[in-house]
Amino acid sequence: MGGDILTELVYTRRELCRTCYTCVRECPAKAIRIENGQAEVMSDRCIGCGNCTRVCSQGAKVYLKTGDRVEELLKGGKVAAMIAPSFPAEFYDMDSGQFTGMVRALGFSSVYEVAFGADLVADAYKELVDIRKTQYYISSDCPSIVNYIKYYHPNLIDNLAPLVSPMVAMARNLSCGKGLVADCRNK
Ligand code: SF4
Ligand code: SF4
Repeated sequence: MGGDILTELVYTRRELCRTCYTCVRECPAKAIRIENGQAEVMSDRCIGCGNCTRVCSQGAKVYLKTGDRVEELLKGGKVAAMIAPSFPAEFYDMDSGQFTGMVRALGFSSVYEVAFGADLVADAYKELVDIRKTQYYISSDCPSIVNYIKYYHPNLIDNLAPLVSPMVAMARNLSCGKGLVADCRNK
């Protein structure tokens, strides 16, 4: 893996690639090319949707994992965990109290649900559409959709809602103690 680790969200484990072209065909952003016999991700075109990691039967497409960075953070002091509201789908065999206890046992000092960030953003969206009734908006919650529009449909950028995602709204709320409607805006 070369290049900037922060921009290479998805990359190829070259030794596993069998050059079957499946990921090339399935990439919605045409961000994979065959080079030197392997399917390489072009990070400047990749929107980070993760579809290639799903369709590659060889396990050759992988996404950036940052567990080691989290472990370093946990050694350094108080760290809050923000949990996606979809967590019961993965941890269906435990209740929320058990799950919270498990996260705290890993070393996190507090545990929050990103669902609260979604509430903050929902209020901001309502305000937005109430004020500008003639404008059509595309939700900017999903980074892949935002990247797709920025890279491939820049004429629609003005239609992206000028609001941060629930995750960012929640992080702002935790880090600065504010983060209500005004803090959910990108600008
Ligand atoms: S789907 Fe996997 S094995 Fe096939 S070309 Fe892409 S990375 Fe290689
Ligand atoms: S993550 Fe999505 S956009 Fe990026 S290379 Fe894979 S399929 Fe293409």
